[in-house]
Amino acid sequence: MYRLTCIECGREWDDEHYTCECGGLLEVRLNLDEIEVDFRLDGQNITVWKYRSLLPVKINPVTLREGGTPLYRAEKLEKEIGVRRVYVKHEGLNPSGSFKDRGMTVGVTKAIELGKKAVACASTGNTSASMAMYAAKAGINAYVLLPAGKVALGKVAQALMHGAKVIGIKGNFDDALRIVREVCGKEGLYLLNSVNPFRPEGQKTIAFEIADEIGVPDRVVLPVGNAGNISAIYKGFRELYELGIIDAMPKMTGIQAEGAAPIYRAFKERRDYIEPVENPETVATAIRIGNPVNARKALRAIYDTDGVAEIVSDGEIIEAQKLLAAKEGIGVEPASAASVAGLRKLADRGMIDPDETIVCVVTGNLLKDPETVVKVCGEPVTVEASVEAVLEVMKS
Ligand SMILES: *Cc1c(COP(=O)(O)O)cnc(C)c1O
Ligand SMILES: [Zn+2]
Repeated sequence: MYRLTCIECGREWDDEHYTCECGGLLEVRLNLDEIEVDFRLDGQNITVWKYRSLLPVKINPVTLREGGTPLYRAEKLEKEIGVRRVYVKHEGLNPSGSFKDRGMTVGVTKAIELGKKAVACASTGNTSASMAMYAAKAGINAYVLLPAGKVALGKVAQALMHGAKVIGIKGNFDDALRIVREVCGKEGLYLLNSVNPFRPEGQKTIAFEIADEIGVPDRVVLPVGNAGNISAIYKGFRELYELGIIDAMPKMTGIQAEGAAPIYRAFKERRDYIEPVENPETVATAIRIGNPVNARKALRAIYDTDGVAEIVSDGEIIEAQKLLAAKEGIGVEPASAASVAGLRKLADRGMIDPDETIVCVVTGNLLKDPETVVKVCGEPVTVEASVEAVLEVMKS
């Protein structure tokens, strides 16, 4: 049904591997002419596993009913930004509150298929929350490496409560990933970061779901950290295109935080490789990554679709987070709002045709990061337990 192929040298590997001897990442290449697609893009019964015929697993999935997230028309955003049609896909409404669940349902299923007894990852938070949840469902052990003190509270809470062994390291995400890759190699743990080629397979269903509900938009905008998701969504559209199910590709548009923007810089200079950022920093901790492992795939996705990469400041991110929450009723964590902040910036600069149909993917739930909310909005006012005192505040 598929081959696991090195994206750099083309060498093929079995399912146990995630990187090639040459150091290149592996990618699942489906044998599209052999596959019998058994779903229709009719907008019905949308979940990750509706698209099972394009997912490379052989056993019954480990699932918590991920996917099928709402795709909202965002009319207030349209007015605010000056674009005709803007949709927001709320990935924060997945079981663990982020799109990572799409990758984990496939990744943990693959771990079981391969007979693994334990999984591991480095994480800026959401990967660990999701992996812990699916490992719990599957009944296997989970080990998590986090950059100590740099992970939003809700995410740590999830990883802990779902029973993962959580280890904070005195370093950043890039350090954590380097260490966990080595530990997995030594100890035979199954690595579930997005270097794992099966995780993006789950995440590509974001593309399938968008196409299922509204067809192919002109543009898909999303935050970019380790760059797995933009590569995965591109791959999803690409497969539908090659199967003849759709007849156009959306412009893949990646938004990075100013302080963690190696892909944006590569794009600016039209390079197909990145120069890592030494000390990435941003309020959007989910994309606080200086050396994105999927950079080559992501740049390919952007160049191949005539897309763009853009940066936004922390201030612009928080402003977009507030806009989504207060005007659209869509509560997201800071990183997610980068997509909307980026769209706004591109539109302001005239880099987007106002007639475009655009989908912003918002990646994680507001509840993930309550501490940032309190910093931004302040604590609620406390008064005496009397009608007078309450009215006084209401009217002030
Ligand atoms: C993981 C994550 C991202 C970044 O996705 P990449 O695939 O690493 O680019 C963005 N937002 C949220 C909420 C995430 O959890
Ligand atoms: Zn290779």
